Amino acid sequence: MQTAVADYHMHSNVSPDGRAPMEDMCLAAIRQGLHEIVLTDHFEMFQPNVPANPYTYSYLENYFDKLNRCRAQYSSQLRIRAGVEMGQSYLDLELEQKILRNLPYDYVIGSVHKLQNIDVGEIDYHTVDLNVLCLDNLEKLYQLADQSDFDCMGHVDLIKRYAARSGIKVNLMDYREQVHRIFKRLIEREKGIEINTSGLRQAAKETLPSFELIRLFYSMGGRILTIGSDAHRPEDVGKGLAAALTIAQEAGFTRLALFENRQPRFLPIP
Ligand SMILES: [Zn+2]
Ligand SMILES: [Zn+2]
Repeated sequence: MQTAVADYHMHSNVSPDGRAPMEDMCLAAIRQGLHEIVLTDHFEMFQPNVPANPYTYSYLENYFDKLNRCRAQYSSQLRIRAGVEMGQSYLDLELEQKILRNLPYDYVIGSVHKLQNIDVGEIDYHTVDLNVLCLDNLEKLYQLADQSDFDCMGHVDLIKRYAARSGIKVNLMDYREQVHRIFKRLIEREKGIEINTSGLRQAAKETLPSFELIRLFYSMGGRILTIGSDAHRPEDVGKGLAAALTIAQEAGFTRLALFENRQPRFLPIP
């Protein structure tokens, strides 16, 4: 099994759902022998009328304060890239650009976490019309692929994670035409996808997206791929990355993308 050197998706407790300080995430990465990480704390966009929105400009300034402190402390042991996981950024492209033009990010994940302001983790999968939900989610993923500014699309088949918790299996390959349209647009706009390994340690028991989707992306010409644990606590940093490398290779990929100043460089998979 290959050794992974970079974890491109994790959250510190700067994110409302993160569990540990950035320092602890960095120390975990060093313990795991990683050479490079990106701290991709959340920034979520909402449809109007959200009562308390924690995602402010000072929230982002706090992120960079903490990041710079970690860089100063651990630079000899670990490359720490600045990242953000932006949710639903198509809802406010002006705000998205204000953030991305003014702050020195290395890497941006574009994700869809919410449909009509409701987190897909909070949906009751036993009562919802799954077909309607999948089609709505795919439409939002297309909107993201078509309009938003990011480097890689996060966890393409995320709803699988939450449906699986209710014992329900969702396979976006059942919507091949819609997935094809999303991937085509990503490739046209020179954007990538990630292999998010969180699914391996959760009920879904597979990566997000699944092997079939990763292989489809590659077969369509997609060449930009990152791997990330989506760790929200130190114990999960680097988890599943070796398995993701094998999956990437089996899907056809020979290289992984690493990012600096939003520019990819490619690292051969050994
Ligand atoms: Zn996410
Ligand atoms: Zn995440």
